[in-house]
Order: sequence, then structure tokens, then C-alpha cells
Amino acid sequence: MLFVTTTAGYYYEIGNYFRKLQHCFTCDDSDNLCTDDSHASEIDIYYNEIIHILKMSGDLHIPKVPKSAMKHHWSVALVSLNNESCLML
Ligand SMILES: [Zn+2]
Repeated sequence: MLFVTTTAGYYYEIGNYFRKLQHCFTCDDSDNLCTDDSHASEIDIYYNEIIHILKMSGDLHIPKVPKSAMKHHWSVALVSLNNESCLML
């Protein structure tokens, strides 16, 4: 199977899968706070489905760039920023 790596293909793929996701909650139209624990589990499932679709579509449509390909873009200023960001963690 041939996959064309394009942004349009990425969004098309995501759209196709997102349209198939269906999670309906009895509390959808309620103004009250939901206390149904099964809804929390369902939201976790929904979240994981979304992440899976995004990762799968990215794997299919976003070209992988090896880290070594970006080395010539690295500069002294970026080293400094990188070091500062590591100190913030
Ligand atoms: Zn609910």
C-alpha cells in the first residue's frame, strides 16, 4: 500500500477516523455536574482513541527527519537556550 506524505493526507486521515468516533453520554445535555464513574472511563477511552489516531496518522503522513539531519541548523545560541531550558526542569 502506498501512502503519500502530505499535510492534506494527514488531515484527511484524521477526519475520516474522527468521524467514526462516537461516544454519547446521557449527561451531554444536562447542566448538572456528572457523577457517573462510567463516563470518566469512557472519556479515558475517547482520549486514547484520539491520541492513537493522531499518532497513527502522523506515522503515515509526516516524514521522519533523522536527528542528524538537523545538526547543521544547531548554533551556539541554541545550545545556550537548550541549557537554560534544561535548568528550568
Ligand atoms: Zn456524564
